[in-house]
Amino acid sequence: VQGKRTYRADLRVDVEAIRHNVAVLSGHARRSGARTMAVVKSDGYGHGAVTVARAALESGADWLGVASPDEALRLRAAGITSPLLCWLYAHGEDFTPAVAAGVQLSASSMADLQAIAAAARRTGRTAAVHLKIDTGMGRNGCPEHLWPALVEAAAKAQSDGLLEVVAVWSHLACADDPVHASIDAQVEAFRRAHDLAVGAGLNPLRHIANSAALLTRPDLHFDLVRPGIAIYGLDPVPEHGDHGLRPAMTFRSSVALTKRVAGGEGVSYGHTWIAERPSNLALVPVGYADGVPRALSGQMSVWLRGRRRPVVGRVCMDQLVVFCGDDTVAEGDEVVLFGPGDRGEPTAAEWAERLGTIHYEIVTGMYRPRVTRTI
Ligand code: PLP
Repeated sequence: VQGKRTYRADLRVDVEAIRHNVAVLSGHARRSGARTMAVVKSDGYGHGAVTVARAALESGADWLGVASPDEALRLRAAGITSPLLCWLYAHGEDFTPAVAAGVQLSASSMADLQAIAAAARRTGRTAAVHLKIDTGMGRNGCPEHLWPALVEAAAKAQSDGLLEVVAVWSHLACADDPVHASIDAQVEAFRRAHDLAVGAGLNPLRHIANSAALLTRPDLHFDLVRPGIAIYGLDPVPEHGDHGLRPAMTFRSSVALTKRVAGGEGVSYGHTWIAERPSNLALVPVGYADGVPRALSGQMSVWLRGRRRPVVGRVCMDQLVVFCGDDTVAEGDEVVLFGPGDRGEPTAAEWAERLGTIHYEIVTGMYRPRVTRTI
């Protein structure tokens, strides 16, 4: 007998939500005269980079951003031809394939510039470069005492026809606190770096705003904004108002087995939960190998048959158990582990809060070998 289609462990990606979010975000940018780079690194924050990239480009983004050249080349291989920047490399990275594919490259150092120029020579193409300036994040980017040398070398390589300097750019350390003193200090440094570039005869675009700065600091939109998390509908600054974003990821499974236990019976490893009275339980075939953190044992619930129900006992590698009291649930019933939250189901933000982390870490960690992804 053919059963109804159920899911063991499935990430449903709501592409309409992504389109909506990108339209909202690029609308804010456009009002400041800025364009939008949709950040789709780490496989589109776990949502599927190619799908997200296409949806974003159709909904108001005109640029894409990823971390590694491999990620950029995968987008090109999928037929995506939009402007596309990548910014983080392995030591000794060979930029030839990226330059050949028209991928724009960030340069934080003279070594980056030289390697990019070498790739430009090999391919016979002019490489498009964004100069990454460390204005106070203390991570990648060129430190201030080296800005003049970097800018001069970039200007020379541009006049030699090897490079085109598209932008100077930087990244904010504390954008999720829009009044943090470090933001003004970083922006001031950013302006100094841009002035240096202009003084060297360059005419670069400027970009510094991530999602949080895009949503809270229109004065920092400059020429281009780089939202990541917000295009997936997760708000990095929810305490600063409702930004009208729609979370795109739902993690769902279905009931694999139901059983009734007697009062006094223990559930799962260590018997950390013991039934107080006869109860119905539902077994859900997902566990920590599928992205449900074991640290949520005893402090999570799922959405099942129209209400939240607690997960009892320890989350195991492949399964967890839901307490249903006297309610009847059936094998095959849908179980939502997290979703947008509009029906009352748990959200990725709630998981993050319980775990003492950020929703970014939740969604980027969900797509695993046994987990399917449907659109
Ligand atoms: N720009 C850079 C350089 C990044 O590394 C990231 C992500 O961390 C973003 C933009 C997007 O940031 P967010 O996801 O907070 O919008």
